[in-house]
Amino acid sequence: MSQPLYVETAEVSDKPPSRQALVSDDEPPSTTAVATVATAAPKPSIQTHSRWNDWRWQMSHRIRSVEQLFGYFPDKAYCQSIEPVIGKYPMAITPYYASLIRKVDLADPVFQMCVPQLDELYDPPFLSSDPLEEHDDMPVPGLVHRYPDRALLIATTTCSMYCRHCTRKRVAGTRETSISARRLEQVTAYLTAHPEVSDVIVSGGDPLTMSDESIDMILSAIRKVPSVQIIRVGTRMPVVLPMRITDNLVNILKKYHPLWINTHFNHPNEITPESMEACRKLADAGIPLGNQSVLLRNVNDNPQVYEQLCRMLVRMRVRPYYLYQCDLVRGVEHFRTPVSKGIEIMEYLRGRVSGLAIPLFVIDAPHGGGKIPVLPNYIVSTSPTHTVIRNFEGMLISYPEPAHRDTPRMMAEPSHDTAPGVWELASGAYSRIQPARTIRQVRRQACCHHIENSELLGQ
Ligand SMILES: *Cc1c(COP(=O)(O)O)cnc(C)c1O
Ligand code: SF4
Repeated sequence: MSQPLYVETAEVSDKPPSRQALVSDDEPPSTTAVATVATAAPKPSIQTHSRWNDWRWQMSHRIRSVEQLFGYFPDKAYCQSIEPVIGKYPMAITPYYASLIRKVDLADPVFQMCVPQLDELYDPPFLSSDPLEEHDDMPVPGLVHRYPDRALLIATTTCSMYCRHCTRKRVAGTRETSISARRLEQVTAYLTAHPEVSDVIVSGGDPLTMSDESIDMILSAIRKVPSVQIIRVGTRMPVVLPMRITDNLVNILKKYHPLWINTHFNHPNEITPESMEACRKLADAGIPLGNQSVLLRNVNDNPQVYEQLCRMLVRMRVRPYYLYQCDLVRGVEHFRTPVSKGIEIMEYLRGRVSGLAIPLFVIDAPHGGGKIPVLPNYIVSTSPTHTVIRNFEGMLISYPEPAHRDTPRMMAEPSHDTAPGVWELASGAYSRIQPARTIRQVRRQACCHHIENSELLGQ
């Protein structure tokens, strides 16, 4: 295994969490409401804390220990059983994110993403701690340079919530430190010496766990490199700690345009008035927002659930960007789905919802192969003259290639005796095969007689 990323301890955005109870400084945690099943907001009492909307209060009241978890989730056997898991992969849950748990058990998607499970210790031999081999692509510790024109900076190892499915489990939370001024200088020196890098992704950990001043300093250092055209920030704050998106932070971020933010919503239950407000502030500051979700077994591996998430995201001006196949990372195997599940979800979405709401399904390949898109097959067959494609309804269409004088246009004669097959489409004898009762066919037959152009605007 590799050494820690940051040997020098630099500033950390908040003091280390104490062993305080989850709920508040002044009232003991109420455990009575917790066991009730499927209530929308399990603990409304904690949300009335006067500093609930203060992100620093949320940071310093994260659930970090088994005892704190027990105060919230009174299943003693369960809490004790995960002690060794927390020893290996730290736990942190913001009170805000904990409040999104609707049913305190493993069937709840939010619960699964934040509460450790014994399954994290399952360790078959094909897993590794760094399957993307990021550590071998670091010319400067903390700066991953894999693609020709972009580089990713691990600016901190701290997150407000440690996602149980995190692909950087080897880094996130093992120590809570941020990049030092000296290391930042090495990074900007590398970027200056490598003007081919035009796009820098500030990631982590979660870079927005740092103080406003540190964020300002890091962004301004990167922005000073003349060859850097765009800066991206990867953060889960709009999801796990939306009160972090303060007016002051937004004012800092927007000084560094063109700046993009990618966030990480995985399930519709994560969309709340608070997260909507955080996205609104960022979008109103002219920051284009994208979403990178991870396909997680029993969390969002369901076409209808994923459709709902994507529709909600575009309403918040967040463009679904990537849907990741779960990486071969040690400690997250219980979340992994077969590749076919992602293809199934893509098949379900295409045509049914706006292209704006459809992410690209990618496998971030082992051995540092990078992101590889995986799609259902839309090309059914080809010939020198035609490509046969299919749409989401199952309609087969013969697409003619450009005509060259010396390419014969027609390889087959239409047959009037039998229905055409794919070969007849590829040869150009037929131009389509249309399923009889698609929704669109039924609508056309019911309503859409031929309309003249002059009628279009009601003239
Ligand atoms: C994902 C990633 C990027 C950015 O990839 P895009 O496809 O441009 O979003 C850059 N560097 C690393 C190491 C990455 O993992
Ligand atoms: S916020 Fe990102 S880096 Fe942090 S634990 Fe979650 S997935 Fe990992």
